[in-house]
Amino acid sequence: MSLIGLAVGPASATSSHHPSGHQSHQQPSHHHPEPKTVPVRLLSINDFHGNLEAPTGSSGRITDETGTQVDAGGAAYLATHLKQMRNKNSVVVAAGDLIGASPLISAAYHDEPTVALLDKLGLATSAVGNHEFDEGIDELNRIMKGGCHPVDGCSPAGTWKGSSFDYLAANVLKEKNDDYALAPYYVKKINGVKVGFIGLVTQTTPTIVTAAGIKGLKFTEEVAAANKVSRLLARQGVKAQVVLMHEGDQVAPNQSPDACPNTPGAGTRIAQGLDAQVDLVISGHSHQAYICKTKDPAGRDRYFTQGSSFGRVITQIDFQVDKKTDDIVRSSVVADNHVVTRTVTPDPEITAFVQTWKDRVSVVANKPIGSITADIGRGSTNGGESALGDLIADAQLEATKEGGNAEIALMNPGGVRADLTFAQSGSEGNGVVTYGEAFTVQPFNNLMQAVTLTGAQLDALLEQQWTAAATRVLQPSATLTYTADLTQAFGSRVSGIKVNGVPVTDTQQIRVAANNFLVGGGDGFSVFTQGTDLWSGPLDIDALVTYMGAHSPIAPPVTNRLTVIQ
Ligand SMILES: [Zn+2]
Repeated sequence: MSLIGLAVGPASATSSHHPSGHQSHQQPSHHHPEPKTVPVRLLSINDFHGNLEAPTGSSGRITDETGTQVDAGGAAYLATHLKQMRNKNSVVVAAGDLIGASPLISAAYHDEPTVALLDKLGLATSAVGNHEFDEGIDELNRIMKGGCHPVDGCSPAGTWKGSSFDYLAANVLKEKNDDYALAPYYVKKINGVKVGFIGLVTQTTPTIVTAAGIKGLKFTEEVAAANKVSRLLARQGVKAQVVLMHEGDQVAPNQSPDACPNTPGAGTRIAQGLDAQVDLVISGHSHQAYICKTKDPAGRDRYFTQGSSFGRVITQIDFQVDKKTDDIVRSSVVADNHVVTRTVTPDPEITAFVQTWKDRVSVVANKPIGSITADIGRGSTNGGESALGDLIADAQLEATKEGGNAEIALMNPGGVRADLTFAQSGSEGNGVVTYGEAFTVQPFNNLMQAVTLTGAQLDALLEQQWTAAATRVLQPSATLTYTADLTQAFGSRVSGIKVNGVPVTDTQQIRVAANNFLVGGGDGFSVFTQGTDLWSGPLDIDALVTYMGAHSPIAPPVTNRLTVIQ
């Protein structure tokens, strides 16, 4: 019997509340009564996105419980904090997007370094995230089961051994036979009690992952899918149930990581809809930190949490499992978001591990690819148009002219992931742009494609930039100009479309370049899927690298392609 169990088990408190009901369960024991409950501690992360090195800029800061902005994140710090928080009752879990959209140090090796790290941190299981599908289900299976990459071969670390944890999804099915594409649940025995983990990923995954990544898969409604598995687990006697879901809500900027107030969205909908048998909902995807309580369908409080992103927060959840009912004592659940500060000593083993990969990737990362004359930012300066977005669109057009016959290019703003900064901290000198920096801007390894749209379709596509749900202004190449009147109703805002200065007619055929995410209808740009004569070209990162090599030094493009009336 564990001393910890005796120390923190609320056996006496419970029996004092229900003196008669619970006394009878008490075993007449030799020295002391068996505790009726056993403690369990969950330590959870989400949306790590391969951040082996401490993330920089706003990605590496977070508001702590006192309202102060502090530096946070980085694998070696995460390891130290986890070590301090771990006990013999603990299990490390995650809520998806651990890999994908990663920095070069991880992405250059298909995220094997990150998965190796997560194994070192003792991750037991994780919900699958949308980004785990970035390279398709076959690649995800390789990541779990091992083997070298079919195209790029083995990493410098040798043959990939696979992960010791499995990704879970109760709502991802194979299209051909409705079988689960991944394990729907995982049961872990902790301290003699069984805790079941059910995985979920946002059902919107097909609209936010490239079409090739989710080929052959079906993403079903989350609540129904999880409840089906919950009932199955209950029948098997697994009553302590935790849902790990890669879906979440938004909170106000700079609120405490332990606060709740959120904008109820898909996360709250699922958190409230899950069967009452589910005791906890650990979420992800929106990169927010919150500790919320919602009601389950039986009217009991149920925690709904998320731990920011990039390893900046660990969510610690402590609870008791009743040994008689095998269920979580709901009133015993305590959840806390713990900021992964950098004021602790970084874990030496993980520091060395990260340094090894840093050295391996440095040859690639530090290679200069061009130069800039000033900062080129992704911040919108003209109704949604940004200098860096313009530059990327120009690079994409140049990469798709030959072969793809592209006349214009359009880039989704969400795919421009960082600024290019003039001042350098490294040795390469001011204005120099390295491959590593360019990769940070374009980390998705999307393919450039081109399709034919009519003038009318291009108009309809541009109208899709403004909807009641969102504004997403596509970054245009210099060859496309138009006027957007934001005072007009959705669907009638775009006019004066010109390609190379010539007004576009409705029936004119235009070759439009974009990455495969957009061409597949991503971000709600469904008109792209009406395109014909699909052509596929180079990777988006290669388009940017080639363009910078050919045109440096590059001045920030003037953001005047879009004329905005507001
Ligand atoms: Zn996500």
